Amino acid sequence: MQTKSIDFSKYSSIKVGSIADVMVIEKGDTIPQEPYIIGGANNLLLSPHPPPLMMLGKDFDSISVEGNELIIGGATKSGRIFSFVKKHNIAGLEFLSHLPGTLGGLVAMNAGLKSYEIFNLLNSLTIIKGEIKTSLPKDAIRHGYRYASMDGVVIEARFKLREGFDASLVEHFRAMRANQPPQPSAGSVFKNPQGDYAGRLIEAVGLKGKRVGDMAWSSIHANFLVNLGKGRFEEALYLINLAKERVKEEFEIELKEEIKIL
Ligand SMILES: Cc1cc2nc3c(=O)[nH]c(=O)nc-3n(C[C@H](O)[C@H](O)[C@H](O)COP(=O)(O)OP(=O)(O)OC[C@H]3O[C@@H](n4cnc5c(N)ncnc54)[C@H](O)[C@@H]3O)c2cc1C
Repeated sequence: MQTKSIDFSKYSSIKVGSIADVMVIEKGDTIPQEPYIIGGANNLLLSPHPPPLMMLGKDFDSISVEGNELIIGGATKSGRIFSFVKKHNIAGLEFLSHLPGTLGGLVAMNAGLKSYEIFNLLNSLTIIKGEIKTSLPKDAIRHGYRYASMDGVVIEARFKLREGFDASLVEHFRAMRANQPPQPSAGSVFKNPQGDYAGRLIEAVGLKGKRVGDMAWSSIHANFLVNLGKGRFEEALYLINLAKERVKEEFEIELKEEIKIL
C-alpha cells in the first residue's frame, strides 16, 4: 500500500491544514480499520495534528453504464460524473455541476442542493470494512439531511439509469449559487436547524463578516467560513465555537457542524 504526503493547506477546499501522510488504497489492498477515510477534502477542517488518514486511489476513479445502471467508483470526482451524465444524456445528477467532491464523500454526506440529494437516485452501495465487502441496497442504509450512516469505505455506487439530462436545471443550480462566497471555504459549516437557517442565526447574533486573523464568517453568506489568506485552524475553530455559543445563548438552538473537524 502506498502513502502520499499531502499538503492540506493546498489540497483542502478551505486551504487550512498541514502536511500529512495519507494511505492510498488501490484494488486488492486490505482496507485498514483505523485510518479516517477522506475524499476531496471539500467538507473537512483539518487540525495541525489530524488522525491517520486514507483515501481511495485511481483504481476507484471510474464511471460506466451497465444495463439499466450507472456505476461509479468511490474516488470519482463530481466534475467527471457531471461530464459523463451530460455527454450520455442521463438525468438526475445535474446538481453535481456545482457541488465539489468525490463519489465516496458525496454519498457519506448525502450531499445535495435543496431537494436534490445523491441518495435520491441511488440503487445500492458497495462498502468495504477490513476484508469484508458488502453490497447494500439503499433502503438498508439510514440516511437523511447531510448524513448517511455507514460503517466502512464506499468503493462503488450504483444509480438508476434515467434518460434526459436537463440543462435548464444546471442553470437553476448556478443561480442558487449566486450568494456563494468566492474565497476558499468548506461549504456550509453548520447544518440548518429544523425550520431555520444557520446563516440567518449567525447573522442575527452579529457574526456575519466577523474576522479573526485570516478566517472570517463570510459577509456574503454567514454560514460559510472563508479563508482570506493564511487562515489557521485555531482561528476557524474559535469562530465556530463563538457562533455555537452565541446562537445557543440567544436562541436556545444548538448548531450542529456539517463539516468534519479532524
Ligand atoms: C464551495 C463549496 C460549496 C459546497 N456546497 C455544498 C452543497 O450545496 N451541498 C452539499 O451537500 N455540500 C456542499 N459542499 C460540501 C461538499 O461539497 C460535500 O460534502 C462533498 O460531499 C464532500 O466530498 P469530498 O469527497 O470532498 O469528501 P471529504 O470532504 O473528503 O469527506 C467528507 C466526509 O465523507 C467521508 N468520506 C469520504 N470518502 C468516503 C468514502 N469513500 N467512503 C466513506 N466515507 C467517505 C469522510 O470520512 C467525511 O466524513 C460544498 C463545499 C464547498 C467547498
